[in-house]
Amino acid sequence: ETAERMAPVAALVRDVPDFPEPGVLFRDITPVLADAEAFTVVATELAALVGVADIVAGVEARGFLIGSAVAVVAGVGVVPVRKAGKLPRVAASRRYALEYGEATLELPEGVVTSGNRVFVVDDVLATGGTAGAACALLRDVGAEVTGFGALVELRALGGRDRLVGDVAVHSLLTY
Ligand code: AMP
Repeated sequence: ETAERMAPVAALVRDVPDFPEPGVLFRDITPVLADAEAFTVVATELAALVGVADIVAGVEARGFLIGSAVAVVAGVGVVPVRKAGKLPRVAASRRYALEYGEATLELPEGVVTSGNRVFVVDDVLATGGTAGAACALLRDVGAEVTGFGALVELRALGGRDRLVGDVAVHSLLTY
């Protein structure tokens, strides 16, 4: 069962108080990715959710690492959803609110096209702003978002509620 397989993974998530600012409990998943067995569990569990999707979208930056592994296990390709200013050619761009301020995500040109079915992956679902923007970007180019998967979900921040009705939300660990 998933809960049983996730226990050793949960033990590797490192809690860092007051990062990146006072009052925030940062869930550092770096040790999970550094552990071969734990990383394999994460990739395998999320890959099982890819279903009919024909490509995985990984959100910068830890979503790149997890999303790539998920894509390989699922037998599909991967596309990076990048922070503004990194891509030479941009297919779509979305601004979204952060806890403080705002940010922009971009999708590379010519990779995801109309009719593609995409499974979106990130490390942590917090307020859902990032996930929402990533899904919106993909829809901007005519793709269908089949689901969103995160390693960690912070329930108290309400990201799931913000995305509900919009996309099927999956997470392997909840806090
Ligand atoms: P949000 O847009 O609020 O859902 O934030 C999601 C993004 O911010 C993810 O890409 C996470 O990497 C990062 N993030 C937000 N809060 C945390 C946290 N408490 N611990 C670790 N990462 C976080």
